[in-house]
Amino acid sequence: MEPLGPDLSQALPPLIRNRRAPIKSLLLDQHLVAGIGNIYAAEALWRAGIHPKRAGNRISLARLSALTDAVQEVLAEAIAAGGTTLRDFATPDGSSGYFAINLQVYGRQGEPCLRCGTTLRAETIGGRTTAWCPRCQR
Ligand SMILES: [Zn+2]
Repeated sequence: MEPLGPDLSQALPPLIRNRRAPIKSLLLDQHLVAGIGNIYAAEALWRAGIHPKRAGNRISLARLSALTDAVQEVLAEAIAAGGTTLRDFATPDGSSGYFAINLQVYGRQGEPCLRCGTTLRAETIGGRTTAWCPRCQR
């Protein structure tokens, strides 16, 4: 499924509800949805207030719907900021395109959460580093 398709918020939540893997891993699963980069997944989870290690089948459909909205929002911002692809990418001059978006949680572990001030944590989940707020992401 394409991440910016109009049916994402309808189609993705029921698929995630059937899976026991951590939501962060599910967002990066190319069989479920194509092309959400690691950084964008972390940003969307923070915006939606969902803990990256929460199992897919333990998140309500309403919260999953908020998450798909957040995913589309983050990707739209990345594209508006000059991204040419939705994956973690490099621009023609070699710089990393994702730095074009305002990162609110990714790479900020040890710094205060911009929403609540709690110190952000980070851990490797499914081989990829993820940062999150232990207070506002449940
Ligand atoms: Zn917070």
